[in-house]
Amino acid sequence: MQRKASNQSVLTHKIWSAKRIVIKVGSALLVDNASSDLRTAWLQALVRDITHLQANGTQVILVSSGAIAMGRGALGLDSRPLKLDDAQAAAAVGQVRLAQAYQALFTEQNIVTAQLLLTLDDLEDRPRYLNARATVEALLMRGIVPVINENDTVATSEIRFGDNDRLGARVAQLAGADWLILLSDIDGLYSADPRTNAGAEFHAHISEITPDIEAMAGPPVQEGTGSGGMITKIEAAKIATAAGCSMVILNGTDPAPLTRLKQGERATVFSAKADALTIRKAWIRGMMAPKGIVHIDEGAVKALTDGASLLAAGVKKLDGDFKRGDLIIIKDATGATVGQGLTAYAFDDAIKIVGCNSEVIKDILGYSRGRSLVHRNDMVLL
Ligand code: GLU
Repeated sequence: MQRKASNQSVLTHKIWSAKRIVIKVGSALLVDNASSDLRTAWLQALVRDITHLQANGTQVILVSSGAIAMGRGALGLDSRPLKLDDAQAAAAVGQVRLAQAYQALFTEQNIVTAQLLLTLDDLEDRPRYLNARATVEALLMRGIVPVINENDTVATSEIRFGDNDRLGARVAQLAGADWLILLSDIDGLYSADPRTNAGAEFHAHISEITPDIEAMAGPPVQEGTGSGGMITKIEAAKIATAAGCSMVILNGTDPAPLTRLKQGERATVFSAKADALTIRKAWIRGMMAPKGIVHIDEGAVKALTDGASLLAAGVKKLDGDFKRGDLIIIKDATGATVGQGLTAYAFDDAIKIVGCNSEVIKDILGYSRGRSLVHRNDMVLL
């Protein structure tokens, strides 16, 4: 059955021109509950949907659950819920199978996949966050589809996401995605649980997550015990929309949900207030604890005002003690502040490339984090 919402295509048509999308796939869609077998035909149709998006120029990241559900079947574990060590063993067994399935199905479409297993810690620790971001970027640049899951085998309850809704939102934030699509077994947000309340009202568009909206999802998530459901979806919407990423909750039960969305399938859209770059720049503008100062020449000041990144060649002098990703102030030859931004190189390395052409960075340092000391997307002019 196709559930249509008349005005919704106005909101969701933008998905088809998006630069970057994160699609979160829940275990219930991927794995048959009774047999614990992978729903291969369903996944094949999703892979075809993603292939169409990619052919249209949209980069796609998958956040996929299903490791525990697949491993549970393989190990013959029946109890519900599983003990932590059993769940972790199931995840270890299931994750390999999941990755194999994705690889096989994407290979049929000549698309390379990659696996990233992340923990909450990885995304809270700044250097690890930046490394994960750089890896995702490097994969997407090559047309590879990253398939991401929580690293369930090492994540203990204190440091777990526990649900891939919020992991999906953090990944969308990390990747600067324009859309996060949560494929679920429900078609969106209702004023009450539609399974128990026939009068529950469907919400097609949420422009602001008010306390009333939060109340519709039920009581708040207890950290570490999240198990999906509407509560974690609202939490995910808060993370995503604050990062400039709009979010959709879409029923993925029937095959090819993204094609169905394009055809007008009903869903709930949570709109981001601004785009990711605007929000990122506002955040950088508000940062107040610089770890260093970079003094630049006149040519570099001109380049920056023309919208370029700050290259090491335009740097006259560096002060401070900073790590990669720290805030540094940019000053001109007179000492006046030009702007501020996040440095791509730590002080110890940045000092070695001062005044140098970008082409020689790799020769001098033995690695390169890109051509610029401060990328234009990581910088605001003041
Ligand atoms: N990471 C878990 C798995 O792959 C799933 C978490 C969730 O259900 O959202 O089995």
